[in-house]
Amino acid sequence: MDRSTVERVLIEHLPVLSHRLGLGEWQISVGYDSALGNGGEGVTRGECSRLIDYQSAHITLNPDAFANDGGVLATLRHELFHIVLAPFDLYTSAVERIDLSDDATELLDRIRDHAIEQTVIALERMYQGLTPAE
Ligand SMILES: [Zn+2]
Repeated sequence: MDRSTVERVLIEHLPVLSHRLGLGEWQISVGYDSALGNGGEGVTRGECSRLIDYQSAHITLNPDAFANDGGVLATLRHELFHIVLAPFDLYTSAVERIDLSDDATELLDRIRDHAIEQTVIALERMYQGLTPAE
């Protein structure tokens, strides 16, 4: 999908959606990377990094991964849910300060990643269920 088309969807939806999700105080920047997640696990549509202490987040989207506006919007919403769950970044920060073995670190990272992705999916289900059909 053309990058300018992705940008149009973001301009149209990001301010309202972030406000509705309680993220109005966050500074959210967006970048684009067509090489996102080309590490052999399929195409990655988006990524999100956060600095919770500064309520600052950056979302990276892969324009080539989208076939239509709905795909962009779904990925934007997914990444915004990761910002909603930013308090769990404190867990990551705390674990990183503990001197753990590589095995323990890998195990805890695996559990965290799975728990967060499942929670994002649950938030998506709730969002769909609470949003009247258009
Ligand atoms: Zn995710």
